[in-house]
Amino acid sequence: MGGTFDPIHHGHLVAASEVQAWFDLDEVVFVPTGDPWHKADREVSPAEDRYLMTVIATASNPRFRVSRVDIDRDGPTYTIDTLRDLKAKMPDAELYFITGADALADIFTWRDAAELFELARFVGCTRPGYEMDPSTLSAIPADRVTMVEIPALAISSTDCRLRTTRGEPVWYLVPDGVVQYIAKHHLYTDSAAGATEQK
Ligand code: ATP
Ligand code: MG
Repeated sequence: MGGTFDPIHHGHLVAASEVQAWFDLDEVVFVPTGDPWHKADREVSPAEDRYLMTVIATASNPRFRVSRVDIDRDGPTYTIDTLRDLKAKMPDAELYFITGADALADIFTWRDAAELFELARFVGCTRPGYEMDPSTLSAIPADRVTMVEIPALAISSTDCRLRTTRGEPVWYLVPDGVVQYIAKHHLYTDSAAGATEQK
């Protein structure tokens, strides 16, 4: 499951848990992006902060793991590189790429879209506020994509960041350890620039 995870929230975790159970997956590998090319319009938190929040959020689940492949690769992150790197590390693995309906809708704008479907099956999770365009779904080889209905959680990282900036709580939207990490490292507050020196 790729994502910016800025911050990781319970929408991500429920989607991962549902898909793990649905397909009886051995593990779900969370892959925080390095430099997300499609988010060039806003400042993304440092990769190490996003990586550590993802580790904190997933640590208690024996079937969840976090990979550094994208944050350790230089340059912008493309899913095709993520899948190639994971395949190289786990040549025998059958890969499933978990996305929300919003991300899946953009899939044909992703680099080397056709090869993506050779490297992995795609799992699109329903997400409140986003409808999949049937023409996008029908353009993906039918045996390479599955839509999974997950319990609806209208949570987004954007909203969690905005809430923090406004001084509103994010308790219960993100795991407790992530609430504490955000506060400790002063993420998403106007004084964030100064706070990085304390790390
Ligand atoms: P942002 O608002 O910064 O874009 P986000 O909440 O969309 O953050 P991402 O890191 O962009 O989180 O998402 C990673 C993946 O998780 C994407 O495939 C996205 O569609 C999916 N996802 C995120 N939130 C949910 C949710 N509440 N329900 C289902 N899928 C989700
Ligand atoms: Mg998003």
